Amino acid sequence: MHKLPDLPYDYSALEPVIDTETMHLHHDKHHAGYVEKLNKALESKPELLEKTIEDLLANIDEVPEDIRQSVINNGGGHANHSLFWEIMRSPQEDNKPEGEIAEVINSEFGDFEKFKQQFSEKALGVFGSGWIFLILDNNKKLKLKRHSFQNSPLMQKNTPILGLDVWEHAYYLKYQNKRAEYIENWWKVVNWTKVEELYKKASGA
Ligand code: MN
Repeated sequence: MHKLPDLPYDYSALEPVIDTETMHLHHDKHHAGYVEKLNKALESKPELLEKTIEDLLANIDEVPEDIRQSVINNGGGHANHSLFWEIMRSPQEDNKPEGEIAEVINSEFGDFEKFKQQFSEKALGVFGSGWIFLILDNNKKLKLKRHSFQNSPLMQKNTPILGLDVWEHAYYLKYQNKRAEYIENWWKVVNWTKVEELYKKASGA
């Protein structure tokens, strides 16, 4: 059985960037819903219940066809949101990466401002519901990836180390149709310490 992880901080911790009510809805209803539906889909395949969500998504072709789309949608939703909560923290002014993660971002994208701009443009350009991720590909190279719906980077054997949810449920209560403002503010709550930790783990550094 997959379990809804607790938030690593209080529901109000991301205020005023992400409001408490949105966090409750997003975590307690949306994320919980993905976990519930994932478990329901796996009910008929007890042998799959022991696999981790990462394993299920990385080997999605081995998931029987009758439940595959449900695992993509709900398992992807579970994995994506679990990452999302982890890579945020209370807002900080002048929030930016430091140390090794800052170096790789600079070498791959020029500098942090250029990275931020590219990431934000891609996030703004997601048509309908989806995500923007910073991933490590098979060659341990950093790349930006846009995904529709809850499609997980893990299905392409990519390791996400940063992700931004641009589904309307992530921001509509506070920002209504102003996705650009949500994206701009979101940079204040990125937990770069966590992103660096995920980078080190994925790169084997
Ligand atoms: Mn969401």
